Amino acid sequence: MARSILISWAMPEVGREVLRKAKVVAIFIHVARGGTSSPKDFMKKLIETDVLLPRTAHTISRSLMTINPKLRGIANYGVGFNNIDIRSATELGIPVTNTPDVLTETTADLAWALLMATARKIPQGHFFVRSGQWEKSPDKIFWGLDIGPGGSNTPKVLGIIGFGRIGRAVMRRSRGFKMKVMAYDPYLKGIIEKTKGVEYQELYNLLKQSDFVTIHTPLTQNTHHLIGKDELDLMKSNAILINTSRGPVIDEKALVSALKKGKIAAAGLDVFEKEPKLTPGLAKLDNLVLLPHIGSATEDTRGQMAVVAAKNAVAMSKGKRPPNIVNPEVLESTEYRRRLEQ
Ligand code: NAD
Repeated sequence: MARSILISWAMPEVGREVLRKAKVVAIFIHVARGGTSSPKDFMKKLIETDVLLPRTAHTISRSLMTINPKLRGIANYGVGFNNIDIRSATELGIPVTNTPDVLTETTADLAWALLMATARKIPQGHFFVRSGQWEKSPDKIFWGLDIGPGGSNTPKVLGIIGFGRIGRAVMRRSRGFKMKVMAYDPYLKGIIEKTKGVEYQELYNLLKQSDFVTIHTPLTQNTHHLIGKDELDLMKSNAILINTSRGPVIDEKALVSALKKGKIAAAGLDVFEKEPKLTPGLAKLDNLVLLPHIGSATEDTRGQMAVVAAKNAVAMSKGKRPPNIVNPEVLESTEYRRRLEQ
C-alpha cells in the first residue's frame, strides 16, 4: 500500500523529487505562514495521512496529533522543533525528526551578516543613501563599532551562548577578526575547554565581558527568557546582542527597555517572541536591525533541508527508523508499535 505524506507548506522541488522517487503519495496543503489553504482542509487531510511534514512556523499541538491514531511520524522542516509538543508526541508514540547540519553554515553566515550589519549600521546607511539625505548630513551618524581590532588594535570579545553546531560555525568565522572568544553551554563545558582559542565562561561572566553576544541555543523551558532584564543589565553599554536562535530566548520587553535606555548599544534580531508580530516599541528603535527569520534562507540550503525532511518522512511512512529522530525512545514504545499495526 502506498503511504502518504502531508506537506503543510510550499516544499522546494528537490524535496518533492525525493517523495516521487520513494513512490509515496505527497499531499500538499499550504497552511503555515503565507499559506492559502484553510485549517479545516488541513485537518481533513491530516486524519488520512501517514506522516506530517510541517515547517517550523506551524505549531503542532497535542490536539492536532491526537486526531489521527495512525500518524506514524512528524518530519519537521528545520533544526529547531519547539513548534512541536515533543512530550505529547513521545507519549502518543509519534517519532519526530528535524533537519540538522545542512543549515549550520548558512545560519552561521546570517548570524555574522547580522552582527556586522548591526555594528556598522549597514541598513541605516542603505536607507540614508536611497532617501537622498547623503549630501545634507555628516557621516558621523554612521560611526559604528569595530568587529576586528580597529585603529587602536584592541581585540573584541565575542560571547557565544550555545556551543552546538551553529555556535561552533560562528566561532570558526570569528578567526579572521582576531577576536577573543568565550562560550557558555552548560552541556558542553568539557568540549569548550578543549577547543583551541575558546574560553569557557559562565553566563554571568560572558555577559559582563563580551563586546558581542550571539545566541545559538534551542528554545526549551530552560532557555525561555534566558536573556532578560538582569542579564541585559550585566552587558556593557557598548555591547551588541545578536539572536538567530528563537525569539522567546530573549525577553523582548526587557530588550526594548535596555535599547531605549542605552544599556546596550544595539541588537540584531532574526527571530522574535511572537513572530511575525513585534513587541510594541521594537520597530521604532534606531539601534536595532531586524530580519524576518531568514537564518537558513538560501536556495541551496532550503532545498537540502527539504531533501532531509523528505527522507525522514519517507522512512517513517515505511515504519523505519528515520535518520534524524529527536525522540528515539519512542521507537521502543507500545504506543508506536500500535500505530504501525493500524
Ligand atoms: P545544536 O543542538 O547543535 O546546538 C544547540 C546548543 O545549545 C547545544 O550545544 C546545547 O547544549 C546548547 N544549550 C542548550 N541549552 C542551553 C542553555 N540553557 N544555555 C546555553 N546553551 C544551551 O543546535 P544548532 O543546530 O546549533 O541550532 C541551534 C538553534 O538555532 C536551533 O535549535 C534553532 O532553534 C535555531 N536556528 C535558527 C535558524 C534561523 O533561521 N534563525 C536556523 C537554524 C537554527
